[in-house]
Amino acid sequence: MHPMVKPALRRGWRDLNTVQFGMAPAHAMVLGPMDTATGSFLTLLDGTRGLPLLRDEGRRMGLPDGHVDGLVQRLSGAGLLDDATGGGPAADALRGKPAVLDRLRPDAASLSLVAPEPGEAMRRLAARRSLHVQVRGAGRVGVALASALAGAGVGRIDVQDGGRVEPWDVAPGGLPVESIGERRDEAARRAVRRAAPGRPPGRGGARSAPEQDAPGLSLVIIAPRDGLAVHAPDPTASEPLIDSGTPHLFAGIVEGTGIVGPLVLPGDTACAGCLDLGRTDRDPTWPRLLAQWRSGQPRQVPACDLTLAATVAGLAAGHALAFLDGELPSSAGARWEVSVPGFDWHARPVWQHPACPCGPGEKGKGEQAADDEGPHETMAGQQPHAARLSGTWRAHV
Ligand SMILES: [Zn+2]
Repeated sequence: MHPMVKPALRRGWRDLNTVQFGMAPAHAMVLGPMDTATGSFLTLLDGTRGLPLLRDEGRRMGLPDGHVDGLVQRLSGAGLLDDATGGGPAADALRGKPAVLDRLRPDAASLSLVAPEPGEAMRRLAARRSLHVQVRGAGRVGVALASALAGAGVGRIDVQDGGRVEPWDVAPGGLPVESIGERRDEAARRAVRRAAPGRPPGRGGARSAPEQDAPGLSLVIIAPRDGLAVHAPDPTASEPLIDSGTPHLFAGIVEGTGIVGPLVLPGDTACAGCLDLGRTDRDPTWPRLLAQWRSGQPRQVPACDLTLAATVAGLAAGHALAFLDGELPSSAGARWEVSVPGFDWHARPVWQHPACPCGPGEKGKGEQAADDEGPHETMAGQQPHAARLSGTWRAHV
């Protein structure tokens, strides 16, 4: 082990004996009391020395026996310590590709803020390379989202869509202007390949062949160009995903509103069917409206603010990555919504419905009275799940 005080957290001394790691409240931590000798010893914990060498240095600085090990344990227990050589064989393999790793350094640093164990950040980063994600939809949201995942190190991303690229599909971070007229799926896969920092061993980067409902998918992201399928997802369309137990996330834009969620963990969190049943309970005219919306294709280019598409793609990719890294993002059991021009994200809970075949039925009881369509309701304090995934839904072990 080569201990390293997490460099992602900026250090500051609150007084002579108290050190604060980090600036932003989400991950900052205060440690004290700490004497000045120990304080100056901290600078040696930069990942270049192993424990034996650190003990030597400690003795030279007059620190008592066992002090260095105690400090390392204390920092490690507080989640402030990383291991410059840790993370296992996949992490070592990634370190062997410095060009790839250089592209991912900020992401590794960010992962170190949420992964408490030394070496865990690199382990998670390296694990992304063996994951397989399918993105359904190659419009402004889908391609930017898929490219973000590829750029963040996810190894296999298969983008699916039909037809050819229209001028209005083009977006920064998404399909380039040169792709107008090409097949959407091929152009999208090329954009994703370009965004990837490296190619995982033996896979040749992003998939070049379509793969429908393949086993082993870590996640499916439903990001159709027509946002109606996200605003009001058709339960029959996601039935195969429920049946196969495949986690899936909805992301899209309808009119001037962007939607991220729900992230469906089949059987454990609300699905498209739960959402539909809940809405029908609250508004008996919902099915009638929906039938009208669904009949016939929109004849005009649907509204899709370019910056709204970017923010939806970014948030959805963030939720997807959090899930793939083994966390439980707040879109599990909720939909995040944002509208132009205020861009004020808010979450609406989506509860499991007792009549939906997706789950045991009991979980949602007593919660159906919640009015999840209130205009300004937020999820504060209502998150139905712990922040960390149970073993069942770990994307990788
Ligand atoms: Zn359901």
